[in-house]
Amino acid sequence: MSKVLYPGSFDPITRGHMNIIEQASVLFDEVVVAVLCNPNKRNSMFSVEERVDMIQQLYSSVDNIKVVSSSLAAVDIAALYDCKAIVRGLRSFTDFDYEVGMQQINKEISNGAVNTVCLFADKEYQFISSSMVKEVFSLGKDILSYVDPIVQKKMYLKKKH
Ligand code: ADP
Repeated sequence: MSKVLYPGSFDPITRGHMNIIEQASVLFDEVVVAVLCNPNKRNSMFSVEERVDMIQQLYSSVDNIKVVSSSLAAVDIAALYDCKAIVRGLRSFTDFDYEVGMQQINKEISNGAVNTVCLFADKEYQFISSSMVKEVFSLGKDILSYVDPIVQKKMYLKKKH
């Protein structure tokens, strides 16, 4: 069975992330989406539990997409869930430069056990990032082209509190 790990912040999950998850779920038997608890990222909009919950709601009817959270290194999460590869989405040269370094490190620290597979979002989703979505939302603009209605609703509820 081929399992792949998709690690990220997902604060919140966007249609760009969803496009990558859905492509990966066709290519692999199972996709494990891992919401990373990154203590260095302090200004998050949603807690890790809220992010996991949103992604679970989005894929509750899809058998081969599983959602977890972890504070471990991506290669250790991959080992824990028996994933031979990490999937990452590429948007730009900036992403590319970063991912080239990360895949090298991940290969080294896993002694060659964990490879990285890069996917590209379809063109209408390629430029979307969580930070851009939060910025547009804070300006009071509609964000339904960038996130699922479930996510938009959670963002409205968050704003009210
Ligand atoms: P963000 O940069 O949006 O905060 P994350 O850390 O949650 O991203 O991203 C997890 C992975 O998803 C990364 O590999 C990132 O490059 C990728 N990704 C995010 N948005 C997109 C998109 N619109 N198209 C393709 N890949 C994406």
